[in-house]
Amino acid sequence: MDLLEYQGKQLFAKHGLDISAGRAVTTVDDAVAAANELGYPVVVKAQVLIGGRGKAGGVKLASDEAEAREHATNILGLDIKGHIVHELWIEKASDIADEYYASILLDRSAKAPLLMFSVEGGIDIEEVAEKTPEKLVKFHIDPLDGITREQAIQVATQGGADADVIESVADILVALYDVWIKEDATLTEINPLIITPERRAKALDAKVTLDNNALYRHPDTAGLTVQGAVDPIEEKAQALGLQYVALDGDIGLLGNGAGLAMSTLDVVAQAGGAPANFLDAAGGSNAEVIKTAVEVILSNPRVKAVLFNIFGGITRCDEVANGLLAAFAEIDTDIPFVVRLDGTNDLEGRKILEQAAIPNVHPAATMNEAAEMVVALAKERS
Ligand code: GDP
Ligand code: MN
Repeated sequence: MDLLEYQGKQLFAKHGLDISAGRAVTTVDDAVAAANELGYPVVVKAQVLIGGRGKAGGVKLASDEAEAREHATNILGLDIKGHIVHELWIEKASDIADEYYASILLDRSAKAPLLMFSVEGGIDIEEVAEKTPEKLVKFHIDPLDGITREQAIQVATQGGADADVIESVADILVALYDVWIKEDATLTEINPLIITPERRAKALDAKVTLDNNALYRHPDTAGLTVQGAVDPIEEKAQALGLQYVALDGDIGLLGNGAGLAMSTLDVVAQAGGAPANFLDAAGGSNAEVIKTAVEVILSNPRVKAVLFNIFGGITRCDEVANGLLAAFAEIDTDIPFVVRLDGTNDLEGRKILEQAAIPNVHPAATMNEAAEMVVALAKERS
C-alpha cells in the first residue's frame, strides 16, 4: 500500500524524524484557513500517489492568503499524470540550503533492505543512478542487526554530505530505517532530504510503501485510505476474489489458479508475446466473475488480445463458457479472445463457444496452441 506524502510524514514523525508543521485539507477554504493558522510562507502540495508533483505544478509556495487561495484553487482537481488531486497538504515552508536524497527499499535478491544516499537530491534519482552512479551510495542493512549510528555516519560521509551535517543526516538515516522496520515498509524515501540554512537535515518529502501482508500488525495505518487511489474495477475484482497484477505487455491473460496463471505468463512469453497482466480467477466461473475479469483485463488500454486459460477441476468448463457468453452479451469489444478449455466438461464448454460463434472468440484445445494463437492475433493488431 502506497501512502500519500503527509501520511508518510506522520509515520516519520512517529519515529522521531523532523518534519514541518502542516495540515491535510480537501477544500480551498480549509486550505486558506490552514495556511493562515500555520503562518506564511506555506507550501501548497498536491497529495497524489505519483512523483514529480513539483514539475507538474502540484507544489507551490504561497507568501500570503491570496496566493494560498490561488494555488489551492489551481491544484485541487489538477490531473497529475492521470492522478486527480482530491487532497492538499499545507505545510509551513522551509528554507533550503541543499537537497540530498535517502531511501530504503527491499532488495529481494540480496534478501536485505538496501539503504541509498546521495547529495544529488531533489531530482529524479534514476537519473543520478544512470549518469553518475558514483554519487549514489548503496549500503545493505543486516536485517537482524539493523543499522548502527556509526554505519549511518559512514554512509553519509561516503556520499559526500557536508562535514557539519553528517551527524544530522546520519540521525535521519537511522530513523528512516526505524520507520522501515517497525512499520513493515517495503520503501521509505526522502527526496529531497534538505539541509536548512541553520545546517539541520530534514525530510521535505516522504514516499512510503507498506507491506500489505503486514497491515494486520498495524491497525492504525491499515485504516489509511486514499481517495481515488484504487481503481474501481480493480476494487471490484478484489472483492470477487480475483488476483490481478498489471504488467507492461499487450496480451491480457486469465488463468484459474495462481499456478496456471503463472505458467500462462511463461507460455505466452515463450511464444514471443508480452503479457499485459497476471490474473488468477481462482475457482470463479460464474458470469459475474468472468464479466468482471474481462472488464479488468480490458480496462488496460494496451491490451490487443486476450488469452483465457482454463483447466477444469472443480471449475467446470461449460460453466466458464456460459460465463463468457453472459459477459460478452454485456461487454462490447472486438478484441480477440483465445479460450483454452481443458479438463472437466471441456468438450461441452468448447461446444457452447462454437455454437455461440462469437466472431472474436477463438476456442483452443491446448495451452501452447492457445499461446501461439493469441500472440499471432496481438501481432495482427499492432
Ligand atoms: P515531488 O515533486 O512530487 O517530489 O514533490 P516534493 O515534495 O519533493 O517537492 C518538489 C520540490 O518543491 C522540492 O524539491 C523543493 O525544491 C520544492 N519545495 C517543496 N517544499 C518546499 C519548501 O518548504 N520550501 C522551498 N523553498 N521549496 C520547497
Ligand atoms: Mn520529492
